[in-house]
Amino acid sequence: MVMGMPAVKPWVASIDIGGTWTRFAAVTIDGEVRGRERFATGAESSPDMVRARWRDRWAALIEREGSGGPPVAVGIGATGPVERDSGRLLEVPNAGPGLQGAELVAEFRMLSGVPVVLERDTCAALLAEAHAGAGAGCSELVYVTVSTGVGGAVLSDSRLVLGRAGGAGEIGHVIADPAGPLCGCGRTGCLEAIASGPAIAAAATRMLGEPAAGRLRELLGEGEPTGLRVSEAAAVGDPVAIAILATARDALARSIVDLANTFDPERIVVGGSVAEGNPGWIPVLQHAVREQALRPTRDALSVVPAALGDDAVLLGAARLAWEESGIASGMP
Ligand SMILES: [Zn+2]
Repeated sequence: MVMGMPAVKPWVASIDIGGTWTRFAAVTIDGEVRGRERFATGAESSPDMVRARWRDRWAALIEREGSGGPPVAVGIGATGPVERDSGRLLEVPNAGPGLQGAELVAEFRMLSGVPVVLERDTCAALLAEAHAGAGAGCSELVYVTVSTGVGGAVLSDSRLVLGRAGGAGEIGHVIADPAGPLCGCGRTGCLEAIASGPAIAAAATRMLGEPAAGRLRELLGEGEPTGLRVSEAAAVGDPVAIAILATARDALARSIVDLANTFDPERIVVGGSVAEGNPGWIPVLQHAVREQALRPTRDALSVVPAALGDDAVLLGAARLAWEESGIASGMP
């Protein structure tokens, strides 16, 4: 070591590209998340604008965290579907032109000069929750996230269930109500089209013309409704907002029971901003499983809130990056 230089811990760069926010962070060999930064994914922007933003923010991360050297690897968890072999995003429902077909692995390999690993964001979050979060100790685990989209991932025998190309577990695109709204994927009544934040906002927009929605119109005020503002209206007792959220929650409950019967997990972890904003949903989901799932699945299955919040994808992507680097990390 050069005299006067501080001892530098190896680190990986961890990137979470979500439908709304993109997060960059450094994760040290013992699992400490440092230098978090969040910016709008900018899905409405052109591919060139999105890439220019990544280059800019990558340089800022290296400036902040790379004084002792570059990361040993980069882990990316991205809103799906991702093509794992080629390292790119495919056509992403509900995302604009900036992300479609993005060559994520090639882009960040060029920026970083180190190995890059890409996984669907829900799979990364599942790994993090399974090791250090609400699913710790479970070898049979299902993770569901309800946020800008609805996604899921499955752990069986302590391994990710990926399917042929990594698409397994896309719970957002199972039909939760055949009479429901049109989904971004082209089908009608997908869980995502009913329970995601934008779906809740769209349901409010559809209701605003109704005579019964006078108070909701007042509560939402000017501008486009959002899922968060519908939740806030429900929290102060607006019956229309409460009914919209109950529809979303009940669709989620039906799909959770389907997941329970399909995978027979020990635990189902439910995360994402919509679920976090409606903590009263968890006991309803647990009740649905207890009442409706088959035996013996229902006897020991618990439905629990996610524990890692906004860090879940970053932590899961970091785990994958450490694996890719070949360096044994001390991450929990
Ligand atoms: Zn769909």
